[in-house]
Amino acid sequence: MIYKLQAKDRDNIPMEIIRKPIKNIYIRIYPPDGRVVVSAPLKMPAKAVKSFINSKKAWIERQHTKLSKIGERSLKTYNDGESHYYRGKKYTLRVVNGKSVSDVSVTEDEIIICCRSACTAEKTKALLEWWYRERLKEKVPLLVAKWEKRMGLRVSETRIKRMKTRWGTCNIARKRIWLNLELAKYDDLILEYIIVHEMVHLLERKHNERFYSYMNKYLPAWREAKEQLQPVIM
Ligand SMILES: [Zn+2]
Repeated sequence: MIYKLQAKDRDNIPMEIIRKPIKNIYIRIYPPDGRVVVSAPLKMPAKAVKSFINSKKAWIERQHTKLSKIGERSLKTYNDGESHYYRGKKYTLRVVNGKSVSDVSVTEDEIIICCRSACTAEKTKALLEWWYRERLKEKVPLLVAKWEKRMGLRVSETRIKRMKTRWGTCNIARKRIWLNLELAKYDDLILEYIIVHEMVHLLERKHNERFYSYMNKYLPAWREAKEQLQPVIM
């Protein structure tokens, strides 16, 4: 069921209400688009669900605004003038047709996409993704090398992949790390956090106390980075 939270001075916030065999109601807000999911006990009356949601209205609005900042991406048209993120900063897309070579460049506040022929949305998107991938391919080996030295271990291979549900994965046996292409849009601390997280798996497979003590030791700011990638829950 979809419920729309009436909000003042902004668009209403749609939220999905899911009934579950749980004791207490909770709300999750997911980056990067600020999707709101309310999990409610099976028998909780609809009226009580709505009044709970409304009592958390200020918090929901705040978190939704914060978490949807980086997003807006599923609705991208790749038209000139649209906003796109790179390293945690918002840029305006400039699409330039009919250049002698296709290329992507970045200025203080613009990402400029030049196309050899007419820039279709597909072509612009492909060029932008290629460019994101190239930027990560430059940066990731440097960060991995830095952390190999600090942690005293070796990564055999890193790959940049498009992944739907994970920011990174680690194949422990093969010492191979895959990173989500989306990370190009986030700031450097977040990229570093995912790399360190995956590398810590080479020391500890599970997300247990030992794992987090390594995280605290190597990258104390990891919590701050994680907060920007995880759903917030109330
Ligand atoms: Zn993990």
